[in-house]
Amino acid sequence: MPGKQLKKRPLSRYLKDYKHSQTHCSQCEKVLERMTLVFRGKIINKEAIAGMDQLIDDLVWQNVQSELTALCRFCSEISCNSHPSYFDIMAFKQYLFEQTEMNHSTIREYVVRLRRLDEMLVAHNYPADQFASAFNHQCIIDDLLPAANDNYRIALRKYDQYLAWQKSY
Ligand SMILES: [Zn+2]
Repeated sequence: MPGKQLKKRPLSRYLKDYKHSQTHCSQCEKVLERMTLVFRGKIINKEAIAGMDQLIDDLVWQNVQSELTALCRFCSEISCNSHPSYFDIMAFKQYLFEQTEMNHSTIREYVVRLRRLDEMLVAHNYPADQFASAFNHQCIIDDLLPAANDNYRIALRKYDQYLAWQKSY
């Protein structure tokens, strides 16, 4: 149909509708109580959405939407606000959600511990090659925190399980 134009609506309108249509976190499947919208790895907050008044049509929206995800607070925090140096925390988290039967709060504990360990490794400037060549990561704890509590060891053991799982694929 020549001259036919797609109806245009403000981007903010599309985003609000999208927000209302999402019920579960797209990474961990948790029911969303508080949702975070993430676009190309960046969180877009309410105020930002309110200011997005450019008019777009459905075709443009489809492109935008393909790069948009609705995440729970925890997953958005890991995706957007952590910059781990040693561990692949994002992949580890997804592994726990997708390949184990652990519940949400247990996974959270593991991930938080691993993040802390990552921070400690950074603070100690732990040699990257030594980390990469570690056959199992338990020995890192012995180097780093001789009197470490078992929680870190358990988290590291899980991480080693994740690495073994990843290698088998
Ligand atoms: Zn989530």
